[in-house]
Amino acid sequence: MKKQLFYTVFFSMLLAGCQEKVKEAASPLEPKEGPSVIVHEEYSGAEPTTPEETEFYEPKVPVVGPATEGRIPSDAIVLFDGRSLENWISAKDSTAAKWHLNDDGSMTVNDKTGDIQTKQNFGDVQLHVEWRSPEDVQRDGQNRGNSGVFLSGLYEVQVLDNNDNPTYVNGQVASIYKQHTPMAMASVPSGEWNTYDIIYHAPEFNEEGGKIKSGTLTVLHNGVLVQDHVELKGTTPYIGWPKNPPHGKGPLVLQDHGDNSRVSYRNIWVREL
Ligand code: MG
Repeated sequence: MKKQLFYTVFFSMLLAGCQEKVKEAASPLEPKEGPSVIVHEEYSGAEPTTPEETEFYEPKVPVVGPATEGRIPSDAIVLFDGRSLENWISAKDSTAAKWHLNDDGSMTVNDKTGDIQTKQNFGDVQLHVEWRSPEDVQRDGQNRGNSGVFLSGLYEVQVLDNNDNPTYVNGQVASIYKQHTPMAMASVPSGEWNTYDIIYHAPEFNEEGGKIKSGTLTVLHNGVLVQDHVELKGTTPYIGWPKNPPHGKGPLVLQDHGDNSRVSYRNIWVREL
C-alpha cells in the first residue's frame, strides 16, 4: 500500500514537472508586447470573442478533380494527349507543327524544323509537362538532350540530359536559363520520363511598357521543388542580359535546340490561374 502511495506521489510530481517544462518551452511563442508583434491590417478591428467570427463560408471553393495517379485536373486545358499536334504550330511561321507524333502517345522534336508553340496564349498558369531524353546518349554538355519549355514564349525552363553530363549550373536541367540555378538535380535516368510542374506568374507592365512587377516561376522536377517562386529578371537569352519587352498573354513554346536532341514530350496540360 505504502509502495503504491509512493509511486502515485512520485509520478504526480514527475507529471507536474513535465507540465511546467512544457509551459516554459511554450512561453517564447506567446506574443509579447512591443513593435515586433505585427498584426495584419485585415485583423486590426476589435478582437473576436467567438470562434464563428473567424470562420467564413463564402465564396465557395471550386471543386477540381485531382491530378493524382496520372489523371488530369478536371479544369485543365489539355495541350497534348498523344493523339495529335492540333494545339501546336510552328513558332517560326505559324504553319502546322512538324514534330514527330509517336505511337506511344508522345511527340519528338523534329530536328531543325524549329520550336513549336501553342495556338492559344496564356498568362499566369500551372503547367504540367512530361519529357524524356534519349537512352542512347550522344554528345556532351548543352548538346545532349537539350530542349526547353518557354513561358509566355520568352522565359525558358531548361530541359537537358544532365546525367553524368556537367555543364554551367545556371544552364543545367531545370534551371531558369542563365538566371536561376535549380536547388536540386532531380532527373530520372536517361530514357525515362521526367515531369515538370511549373507555376508561372507573368510580369506586369504599365501603359508606357515599363515593368511594374516581375514575373515569378516555381518548378517541381519529378516532384522535387527546384525553383521556389524565383523572380524573372527578364528574358533568358543564350548571349546577353535579360531584357524586359512588354507583353501580354503569350504562347507556351517547346524548343528545338537544332542539334538532333531527340527529346520527347507527352501529357501536357495547363490550368489558367
Ligand atoms: Mg534549352
